[in-house]
Amino acid sequence: MLSVHEVTTAYQGLVAISSVSIEVAKGEIVCVAGANGAGKSTLLKSIAGAERPRAGSVTFDGARIDGLAQHIITARGIAYVPENRRLFPRLSVHDNLRLGSYMYRGETDRDAPLKLVFNLFPRLSERLEQRAETLSGGEQQMLAIGRALMTRPRLLMLDEPSQGIMPKLVDEIFAAVKQIRDAGMTVLIVEQRMAECLDIADRAYILQTGRVLMQGRAVDIKGNPDVRKAYLGL
Ligand code: ATP
Repeated sequence: MLSVHEVTTAYQGLVAISSVSIEVAKGEIVCVAGANGAGKSTLLKSIAGAERPRAGSVTFDGARIDGLAQHIITARGIAYVPENRRLFPRLSVHDNLRLGSYMYRGETDRDAPLKLVFNLFPRLSERLEQRAETLSGGEQQMLAIGRALMTRPRLLMLDEPSQGIMPKLVDEIFAAVKQIRDAGMTVLIVEQRMAECLDIADRAYILQTGRVLMQGRAVDIKGNPDVRKAYLGL
């Protein structure tokens, strides 16, 4: 479904990811793990159209998407939840979700995605009129994911959904990611919390200083002695 081929992205000459290749098949949960500064966010931005790769290609459903504007990539079926979530802080939960659905062209049916969002995150349905800025960190992350789902994506990309969130809600969010896949979507998730991410993923990549260090089935990576020592603290 998604093919990132030898992508290099740089900021003012400073290379953040170098010749990175990853594949995501329909129906998979793929985790990209790595330490601070490994280039995880840059990889997602390069796919979402928020940064333009300097070299390489990104193909989605057989068509090149690198170089396209971000809203066009969204319309093609890729939803991206950035690290800082970018909610509309003064607007209610309900309005944030409604604005998400405006991005989806062609179909006016809002009910189906809304039902899915409320199913996944009952907390949101209890807080429809609450302003987004008054939600807890975990609830804001749920809202950011919910808003992305309102665009009815085929591929959902999440940048560190666990960041700054209390453990109980982290579990809820990871459980929701599995349900999102079970509802027919494909998920690409980048995380520093490797253990939890590997638990829900089918396959994983480890990024280190802008390059792919390792890739494979999530269970194999989790069992790899070097990974256990270097990344999982075991
Ligand atoms: P984190 O978990 O801290 O977000 P990350 O793995 O997502 O890390 P990136 O944010 O992709 O890593 O950063 C990769 C490298 O690119 C880092 O060295 C970072 O300082 C640099 N970088 C990221 N964004 C910019 C920017 N807008 N301008 C200049 N350098 C940047």
